[in-house]
Amino acid sequence: MAEIGVIGGSGFYSFLQDARPVPVETPYGLPSEAPVVGDVNGRQVAFIPRHGADHRFPPHRVNYRANLWALHALGVRQVLGPCAVGSLRPELTPGTFVVPDQFVDRTWGREHTLYDGPPHPVVHTSPADPYCPAGRATVIALGNVVPDGTMVVINGPRFSTRAESQWHAAQGWSVVGMTGAPEASIARELGLCYTSLAVVTDHDAGVAAGEGVTQAEVFEVFGRSIERLKVLLADVIAQLPKPDVDCTCRHALDGTAADRRSA
Ligand SMILES: [Zn+2]
Repeated sequence: MAEIGVIGGSGFYSFLQDARPVPVETPYGLPSEAPVVGDVNGRQVAFIPRHGADHRFPPHRVNYRANLWALHALGVRQVLGPCAVGSLRPELTPGTFVVPDQFVDRTWGREHTLYDGPPHPVVHTSPADPYCPAGRATVIALGNVVPDGTMVVINGPRFSTRAESQWHAAQGWSVVGMTGAPEASIARELGLCYTSLAVVTDHDAGVAAGEGVTQAEVFEVFGRSIERLKVLLADVIAQLPKPDVDCTCRHALDGTAADRRSA
């Protein structure tokens, strides 16, 4: 029904042509909103607003498992995950797009795996390289983007203290977000290709002098970036590999208990 999934802000509803909602039930409850499926540049795309259409779910209450499961159930092979982030480096100014190549998961208390005990088998997948190489290459080739960086994911919904922010920066990490994990690792558990696209909205608390980040600042900069983001994602969607092209991401379950059971 759809080959490409987008999990992003509710501003993407207008992104899809001839969109229609397709309710999906999952073993993990309801997704943030029923996916809408429509056309973007000739490709069938399913979109889920990560925080709900009315932004009612804070980052730690997003049902990441149901969102990814629903996209997978619709036939999606490639997922694009745009998100807002704070900058941990002076040169990554608001409005910059970063294509992370690594994440550090500092979240806690979230449902973070599909393999959560019986009836599911015990399955260990590897997020050593957590993002899709083909998806990342497509975004990097088409966009005016920073082509790598580590995204540290905090639990939120609060922002960082100055000490936390300085610590994150001292580790060499590039940006800080609240939703990149467990979204990417659950996608990996489904054998989905997942590409993160981080939009810098602010300098995090410890990086620049000043008042620290505010919610209004984040929303304002993200709002200004969204038209540019839509143009880039539409170009990326047109160029992503076709569904019959194999990818390493699809082999995430090879040799695991989940693989043996289905064999
Ligand atoms: Zn892939």
